Amino acid sequence: SLQDKLDKALQNISGRGKISEINVAETVKEIRRALVDADVNYKVAKDLTKRVQDKALGQNVLTSLSPGQLMTKIVHDELVQLMGSTHEGINLSGKPSVILIAGLQGSGKTTFSGKLANYLKQKRNKKPLLVACDVYRPAAVEQLKVLGGQVGIPVYTEEGALNPSSIAENAVKFAKENGHDVVIVDTAGRLAIDEAMMNEIKSIHYFIKPEETLFVVDSMTGQDAVNTAKAFNDALNFDGVVLTKLDGDTRGGAALTIRSVVEKPIKFISTGEKMEALDVFYPERMADRILGMGDVVSLVERAQEQFDEEEAKKLHKKIAKNEFGFDDFLKQINQIKKMGNMKDLMGMIPGVGKAIKDVDIDDDAFKHIEAIIHSMTPEERRRPSIINTQRKGRIAKGAGRKIEDVNALMKQFDQMGKMMKMMQGPQGKQMMEMMSK
Ligand code: GDP
Repeated sequence: SLQDKLDKALQNISGRGKISEINVAETVKEIRRALVDADVNYKVAKDLTKRVQDKALGQNVLTSLSPGQLMTKIVHDELVQLMGSTHEGINLSGKPSVILIAGLQGSGKTTFSGKLANYLKQKRNKKPLLVACDVYRPAAVEQLKVLGGQVGIPVYTEEGALNPSSIAENAVKFAKENGHDVVIVDTAGRLAIDEAMMNEIKSIHYFIKPEETLFVVDSMTGQDAVNTAKAFNDALNFDGVVLTKLDGDTRGGAALTIRSVVEKPIKFISTGEKMEALDVFYPERMADRILGMGDVVSLVERAQEQFDEEEAKKLHKKIAKNEFGFDDFLKQINQIKKMGNMKDLMGMIPGVGKAIKDVDIDDDAFKHIEAIIHSMTPEERRRPSIINTQRKGRIAKGAGRKIEDVNALMKQFDQMGKMMKMMQGPQGKQMMEMMSK
């Protein structure tokens, strides 16, 4: 992957005392190769590495820093530059604000529409309406209805209607009359760009005059993504790009190239099939991720979103009074699960992304734990200390696990309790202070 290759290229230069023209040239060549292999457009890669080279040689003064670090910083800054340097939000000034979602079939449009509606409702206090405009595939309309149901957002449909533009127009009218302040219009996609499709979406665009047109693209499609982006941009002059499927083993090149080819910002990234797996795009964070620094900021933000102040206070009290039980443990697990896919979360921790690249992380890893806890009686959950061997046997049987699994969980629980207790004491305070500096 791009991350590995850049890593290797940068490692070559690390450890050497001084940046010489020769090792800079070697490193730059390797970086360029890594970028091109990752589907970054050749010209874009060449321009980028040329700038890196100039900067590296121009910064001789910084030889006190290790060359590897210096090069990493230069490449990082250039990547950020390439991806648009600042984060750009979406235009929600309309009454209602109409957002048109365009892209090829399978790019993740419908999934993204659901996620965007959920995001606007949860984080921006909006009252969105979803609109299904795919008159060719009833299954697509059904899919949007299911997603809308999941996130509690109404979906406007017109059964049997044949004209997507008029469905969209009617939906905007419906939104005005029913107090929706955002209208998200999911459109039909084709497997490849064709004229009929472009004309249809152009027509919808013309009739509803959206505040925001977002082009959704599957980041796994590499260089093709860039060509598709160009075609859609010529037709719609869209406002922003949504990169999907960044959770998979994507080559990342598309993210790097699209911005510089169509000169439109990437606004969101989608990292999984769950409705919560949506992130606002920040070039800085993406560059960190590519360079393997992890994306701590996003991780912390996701954790904060799930953080409930009241619950936390209650939890603190319980720990202090030694009343933390298995029901609380279950609640904690649920909070973690709400944050999203396990592998994604772990990938955001610096250094871990690379290490777990090839590891299969079972998203159901918690299932067994939950099964064991569910097979305990309320009394046992409240007072784990009463769980003796006999009870353990019964619990294991009920959960369909071995007694060793129950033992392991009890041990984990015990350790967690000890750790939490410690975090609340003077040592914990000290640790927290150190971490916040
Ligand atoms: P559409 O045809 O453009 O509406 O695409 P869909 O929203 O139906 O998505 C196509 C497939 O990709 C579905 O199976 C989705 O669950 C899946 N998908 C969408 N977004 C993501 C994502 O960010 N990550 C992963 N892993 N799968 C996704």
